[in-house]
Amino acid sequence: MLSQVEDLDPFDIAQRQLDKAAKVINLDKQALAILREPMKILQVSIPLKMDNGETEVFTGFRVHYNNARGPTKGGIRFHPEEKLSTVKALAAWMTWKTAIVGIPLGGGKGGVICDPKKMSQGELERLSRAYVRAIGEFIGPEVDIPAPDVYTTPQIMAWMMDEYETLVGKSSPGVITGKPLELGGSLGRGDATARGGLYVLREGAKRLGLDLSKATVAVQGFGNAGQFAVKLVREMFGSKVVAVSDTKGGIYSKDGIDYDKLVQHKKKTGTVENFPGTKNITNEELLELPVDILIPAAIENQLTGSNANNIKAKVVLELANGPTTPEADDILFKKKVLLLPDFLSNSGGVTVSYFEWAQNVSGYYWTEEEVYARLDQRLTESAKAVLDASQKLKIDPRTAAYTISIKRVADAMKLRGWY
Ligand code: GLU
Repeated sequence: MLSQVEDLDPFDIAQRQLDKAAKVINLDKQALAILREPMKILQVSIPLKMDNGETEVFTGFRVHYNNARGPTKGGIRFHPEEKLSTVKALAAWMTWKTAIVGIPLGGGKGGVICDPKKMSQGELERLSRAYVRAIGEFIGPEVDIPAPDVYTTPQIMAWMMDEYETLVGKSSPGVITGKPLELGGSLGRGDATARGGLYVLREGAKRLGLDLSKATVAVQGFGNAGQFAVKLVREMFGSKVVAVSDTKGGIYSKDGIDYDKLVQHKKKTGTVENFPGTKNITNEELLELPVDILIPAAIENQLTGSNANNIKAKVVLELANGPTTPEADDILFKKKVLLLPDFLSNSGGVTVSYFEWAQNVSGYYWTEEEVYARLDQRLTESAKAVLDASQKLKIDPRTAAYTISIKRVADAMKLRGWY
């Protein structure tokens, strides 16, 4: 039976997912005890002069979840509803993410409670710089490497890198990834999260015998991941995107949605809603549409015990972090929906971040073709390993992915003598 009130606390959810997989592989209980908690948490209080002359105080976090496999790595979110529990969960998921694609990094995450939509460019720049001054000793190219996430951009990464370099008094592009190309960013980083996810989708569709050129797609979210998913699923596979949404609401057209025109419309009006030739729908309606592929690309807790039974898609490709609750996971698995889990499906972003960091520390830059080819190889191999484990162990792909990742992190901890 479903619990009356579902527990939607992100870190509780992350721990429950971990516990479930640990049981499957009979993980050593000391290793589990280490993996259930972040290694270090930093909370900072940031006084900031606003444009109106008044000082406001912002709260920020940075979490190092686990660094057994390498420096911690993960984005920074600017979000009005940010909280420590979410940052801890996201940092845990980063640990499983870097492990599933086998890159030599650990997991971390940062966040600032703020509403960037209500801030001027000047305020955003001052906040970005102040945040880096506050966490400066907690980050570094060999310690902890931030990147973009919800509502943070390459421009924000540029300010942060500049502030960090001022703090340490030398060039240090490897301190942060997702930078603009002009400042040591990598070719292919912009659309890497979506592109990586589509390589995973290609593998999943193969197993189901689903012809992607005839598939219909609904995408929730029109940020970096969602926007490029809309563009690339058509370009790469010829699939038809019939529904798209952003925070304000969504749109639907059975004939498909034109990406370029939609981008123009969003630029002009600030939302995807009221796009000519489509009908407005809610975010809730989008999730329950009769499409082949559903791509949640927004935020946590979208597919829950309350709506999972109404999901009609054959495949859920999670580009967001944590869009599905454990209750929904169980329901979707019983319904035989193929769920391609977040820390596998959205690992393209951090994979190209790793390529960017490697290029920064070596000072040698790759072509876009090289980046795409290496991304394809890593993501396809990782997807195959997860789907094979899921089939073999008869468990859902999320738990299967966890079994692979936690074993890799636990092995590294064992070799270091942590348990
Ligand atoms: N924020 C992205 C994620 O959740 C990218 C992290 C990174 O590139 O370090 O995976």
